[in-house]
Order: sequence, then structure tokens, then C-alpha cells
Amino acid sequence: MIATRASRALTLPLAQAAHRMLGPRGCLLTFHRAAPAKFWEKLPNRDFYLDIEFIDRLLAHLAAQKWDVVTIGEALRRSGSAGDNSRYVNFSIDDCYRDAFDLVAPVFRRHNAPLTLFVTTGIPDGTASLWPIGLEYTLLERDEVLLDGQVIRLSKPEQRRATYQRIAAKWDGPDPSRYYAAFCAENRVDMDAMHWAHAITWEMLEVLAHDRLIEIGAHTVSHARISSLTSEQALAELEGSRLRLNERLGINVQHFAFPYGRSGDCGPRDFALAREAGFLSAATTRKGLVRGGQDRFSLPRNTVNGSHRSVAAMEMHLLGLTGIAARIAGRV
Ligand SMILES: [Zn+2]
Repeated sequence: MIATRASRALTLPLAQAAHRMLGPRGCLLTFHRAAPAKFWEKLPNRDFYLDIEFIDRLLAHLAAQKWDVVTIGEALRRSGSAGDNSRYVNFSIDDCYRDAFDLVAPVFRRHNAPLTLFVTTGIPDGTASLWPIGLEYTLLERDEVLLDGQVIRLSKPEQRRATYQRIAAKWDGPDPSRYYAAFCAENRVDMDAMHWAHAITWEMLEVLAHDRLIEIGAHTVSHARISSLTSEQALAELEGSRLRLNERLGINVQHFAFPYGRSGDCGPRDFALAREAGFLSAATTRKGLVRGGQDRFSLPRNTVNGSHRSVAAMEMHLLGLTGIAARIAGRV
């Protein structure tokens, strides 16, 4: 606690001085899910969630520090305008689960701040596999699970986290849903009920689409890694998600975010395909800041990790330091 306070006392004034020197810029931040602080502690894959109280504190901090929270559309307008002198932040949620509707949107409304949702249309359509979520909640809710006939006993949150990491690493590959289906059969998990306990629904998206603070973008149909597909398959994922959202919600989706989003997951061919699919922009998860003249089809975004629950840690993103560190370490 003392260390945290000391680092806060050191980081915040330094950050304020650096902000004045760095000048106009945009910082796009992205995350997936949110949870109440008490529940967050218990989650087997808690880095995937932001503590909702932290989001509330962060929005208050940004307002106090005179950062504008904007949509992707507005971020593009500002980065393309030579006279723009502002500092702005965009928040986007990828995939979209029901907590985007239940927990996150109400906090953004309270701060009168816009929020972008990049929807994987297979989630509300019930066709995308939510295996990481299904695995996580089975580990959370049970005292023991079966894996290939072996019993794994679970009592403490650390055990559940280690087990999640181990199984997810094993399943993550070309066909994780095959492992997940076998796991559900072995543990009598109702896959359909699990899906709808977490998926955002079209009814929720209809409400959100009518909210002036919500901007809806696309994030493929099946959450495919675009770089691993043929051009035809990739275009079907890109265009298919845009057309499905337009048709189901009566909107005109303009922005896209690549699943996974690192340099191995999407490259120059895919940026061109996003343009061909009718989008005005595409976002990656390569860290960094948006400056004047930013290429619209490879927007940098900074993933906010659930464990980084301090405003001081966020300053590293706002200053562009996480992007510099990632480039030095070769993690792009
Ligand atoms: Zn995603």
C-alpha cells in the first residue's frame, strides 16, 4: 500500500509534466469484460475483466485531467484535422458479453462518456464458441472437475486460476471448441445455458444501438484470427459481421476491430480487406498512441489488463510508454 502510494505520488506529477510536453494525441483503450471488485478477486481468468469500480475512478480521473472521452469516429476526425490540439481517449469493448449491457454501459452513462462496442455477431447469434468463458465458470462453480478422466480438485482461487491457465493453454489452437465439447460432456455442463448466461443478446444490443453514447462496431462473425484465413474467408468474416449488425440493428456500422489484434493476427493484406469490406477504420491491439495522420486501418489500441487497477498504471498508456516498451521488447 505504501509502495502504491509512493509510486502514485511520483508518477502522477511526472505524468502531468510529460503530458504538457507530448501535446495533442489520442489513446485508444480496450478491454473485454467487467466485474464487481469482490467477485473479480475470485475469477479464474481475472485479467480478462476490469474491476467496475476502477472504471468509475478512471473516468473521474480522465475528466479531472481534461482528457476528452470520444468515439472512434470522433478520434478519426481529430487525428485527420491539422488544427486539432486536444487529448482524447476512446474505450472499446471487444467480443461483447452481457456485462457490457448490465455493468459497463451504466457507468459510462453516469459519466456522460461514450463507449464503443466491437461485437462478434456469432455471440448474440449463438454460433460462436465461448469456450474460455465456459471453462472459467465451470472451474469457478465446481469443487472438482474431470479432465480426460482425471479428477481435478478445486478449493482456492489460486488453484482455479492455475488450472484455468493450464487447460486454456492446452486447448488454444486451431479447434478449441472440440476440447470444450468433450469437457462439457464429461462434466455435464449445459453448453447452451452457459452461452446464454454470458452472451450479449440482440435485445440488449437494440437498446444500446439507440443510446447516443454507444457506438457499435464489428469484430467478425466467429472471432476468427483473420491472418490465418484465405482472402475469401477473411472477407466473409469482415463483411458478414458488418452486414449482420446493419440488418439486425438498422444501423450503419463503420468501424472494425481485429480479433487478437497483434502483428501476427492481422497485417497489410487484412488492413486492405477491411477497407474492401466497407469499413472506414480498423483497430489492432498494437500498443501506442494516435497522432495526426494516423493510418485508419491499423489503429493502435492498448489492452487494459484486469490486474492493472491503478490510475498511475493507466498513465503509462496515456503517455505512450507501454507502446514504446512493447516495441523495445519486440511484443507487437
Ligand atoms: Zn476479441
